[in-house]
Amino acid sequence: MARSNIFQGVRTTAVHAGEIPDPVTGASAPDITMSSTFVVDEPAGFSAHELTADAPFLYGRWGNPTVQKLETKLAALEGTDGCVCFASGMAAASAIFFSILSAGDHVVMSDITYAGVAELARDTLPRFGIAVSLVDMSDLAAVAAAIRPETKLVHCETPANPICRLCDLKAIADLAHAAGAKVSVDSTFASPIATRPAGLGIDYVMHSLTKYIGGHGDALGGAVLGSFDDMQLLKAEAAIHYGGIISPFNAWLIMRGAATLPIRMRAHQESALAVAKYLEDHPKVRKVIYPGLESHPQAELAQRQMENYSSMMAFQVADGEALAALMMDELQIIHYAVSLGHHRSLIFWMPTDDLMKTSFRLEGRQLESYRAFAGDGIFRLSVGLEDAEDLISDLDRVLAKV
Ligand SMILES: *Cc1c(COP(=O)(O)O)cnc(C)c1O
Repeated sequence: MARSNIFQGVRTTAVHAGEIPDPVTGASAPDITMSSTFVVDEPAGFSAHELTADAPFLYGRWGNPTVQKLETKLAALEGTDGCVCFASGMAAASAIFFSILSAGDHVVMSDITYAGVAELARDTLPRFGIAVSLVDMSDLAAVAAAIRPETKLVHCETPANPICRLCDLKAIADLAHAAGAKVSVDSTFASPIATRPAGLGIDYVMHSLTKYIGGHGDALGGAVLGSFDDMQLLKAEAAIHYGGIISPFNAWLIMRGAATLPIRMRAHQESALAVAKYLEDHPKVRKVIYPGLESHPQAELAQRQMENYSSMMAFQVADGEALAALMMDELQIIHYAVSLGHHRSLIFWMPTDDLMKTSFRLEGRQLESYRAFAGDGIFRLSVGLEDAEDLISDLDRVLAKV
């Protein structure tokens, strides 16, 4: 973890932040330091509580030069003073929850989140005596009503996986702070190019680095970004004690991906808009939900809060199951696979009833709100960096057969 460098432009930041030519060899590209331990030349403590910002490298779970380079680059992109990287997005999410919340505390959480986070909130947190309120965070009155005196944390996700529903980060941060609670957001779908939540008052910004930031589908990782002091505490407890740290090799791969994040996000958005418009005009497509379309139910919020609409979209057809089966056999470019944010386009069918049984378990008004976006099910499409015309003809061929 290190303080961010400040460059004028986001592209320069993405390329250079965290990296300098190697002072010994002159190597222009960063090396990978795989060493798990470091030779010290003065007495050093071996407790997480003795960790200081300028402590020399001591042991790989405490800090690593390659991981530190990535953390510096990500903090510069996100506009925060601190960053801690983890082995996966889920390791980053659980670092936030378990380091902030204790037995007797209460957390207000979006009723729609990444499935792993949804299941952690419903099954795991209550086992530790943590009360969880699941709320439709596109409804600010519902957020306000859910906050209690013992609320320690409000956790949101925007755009929310998988339906691309948005929430107003500044308004939610204001509500939480007025009640003395901290706020975290899973910003994976947005990336630091679309939204910089720290500037809107969010305390903990979380990313799965496996997605847009790494961008190439070859390394898992996670990150939490925030103030220098909060990240110092998170590192001592979650990285050093829980131990879910990222490997230097993955950090190196993700750093190479992050260098091109701004230009990739522009290309992702450009192709996604073309594909979304094609789908919206297709007679067999019932509905497309993409924050870059005027038809998004929260288009005004998208325009106010997002500087890039990313490339995640959801769409409905009459018989999703049949189309999913066709796609598995017949798509030639788009991979039928989970995950997202890669240079390869990825698509996956998500039937509402199944997701309700496994991850979300919503009823009443909350289920209605989900169905207003997803109907009986949606295809979650992550538009990659291929030519939009090729993606459209790949989709066109299978849509013609259903
Ligand atoms: C993938 C994802 C995660 C989990 O990240 P992993 O790196 O797979 O652990 C969390 N949140 C969102 C929104 C995701 O898309």
